[in-house]
Amino acid sequence: MTARRRTGYIWHERYAWHDTGTHVGFVPAGGFNQPHLNFETGESKSRMAGLVEVSGMIDELVRLRPRFAEKADLLRVHDAAYVDRIERESEARGGDGGDGFTPFGPGSYDIARLAAGGTMAAAEAVLTKAVDNAYALVRPPGHHARRDMGMGYCLFSNVCVAIEYVRATLGVERVAIVDYDVHHGNGAESIYWTDPGVLAVSLHQDRLFPLDTGDVTASGGPGAEGTNINIPLPAGSGNGAYLAAIQRVAIPAVKNFRPDIIFVSSGFDPSAVDPLGCMTVTSKGFKDMASALVGLADDVCEGRIVFSHEGGYSPVHVPFCGLAVLEALTGHDTGVPDPFAQSFDNSPAHPLKPWQDDVIAQAAMIAEALRV
Ligand SMILES: [Zn+2]
Repeated sequence: MTARRRTGYIWHERYAWHDTGTHVGFVPAGGFNQPHLNFETGESKSRMAGLVEVSGMIDELVRLRPRFAEKADLLRVHDAAYVDRIERESEARGGDGGDGFTPFGPGSYDIARLAAGGTMAAAEAVLTKAVDNAYALVRPPGHHARRDMGMGYCLFSNVCVAIEYVRATLGVERVAIVDYDVHHGNGAESIYWTDPGVLAVSLHQDRLFPLDTGDVTASGGPGAEGTNINIPLPAGSGNGAYLAAIQRVAIPAVKNFRPDIIFVSSGFDPSAVDPLGCMTVTSKGFKDMASALVGLADDVCEGRIVFSHEGGYSPVHVPFCGLAVLEALTGHDTGVPDPFAQSFDNSPAHPLKPWQDDVIAQAAMIAEALRV
């Protein structure tokens, strides 16, 4: 019997209005590329919010009000020239975060501030004990954004802006980030590369995005050795590999680090049917990971854990994965069946494979050797 918890929940319809424009997946339309949508739209997130309501989960959650991060909040993390450019272009016709894969439309500066401010509000509610834990269903995502540029659909680093807010105002000193989005959490890695106060752990598909970051040997810069942990899992990894990586690498590292609060970059693109990843995680897999992380927070920081939504591009699967994570956070079982579970959970992809075990063992060894 899982204990019931007061779980804060952030969602705002405006998140769905961030416009990524006409694309063909992630490439521009034109020539032989028939105009369509970007892979990154509001659909998977607003459908998750929809299922949260229809399932009745909404009645078990504490609705938190997102706010707009102030420019001063963004500037704790991002360069002024970058923030000013996004603001300026957003007031006109929109633009791109900087890598050509981060399109945004008019008004997206404010929506991105609302995403960062949503994660800030979630963290504040947890730290002031208004709630036990929280899930911020925000958009655009944040975990690729660097100090000086947006990247991979991310304009501002929602998690890092929230971390710097609670460090500046709520007496938080040590923070751990666990990122299970299928892509590498390169933003937090670069922002905290030389900061010994933040432990960043990223589970991701090896050499997916960005292509040139996420190696297992990237373990932190001068003065912060051992505070960056990468677990680059091979394509095809399923529930077994993900849970093993959490249990054998992330949990021991976070326990040893003793953070005041844990942030989770919650991307559902390791899903079995995500168009941007080649992993096979199911709603049960996400729920098991989330349960393990909630238990970890109980052990190390009085249960203080904040999930901030990142990627996840299957409009049909993400809602069930998200609901499963909320069940883990609240301890409330909605009884709503995942219609994909029977086919996805029975895949032979799930048991841990030797080549996945090798990577996890290597990451565990490096984390152990550099233990801070
Ligand atoms: Zn992703």
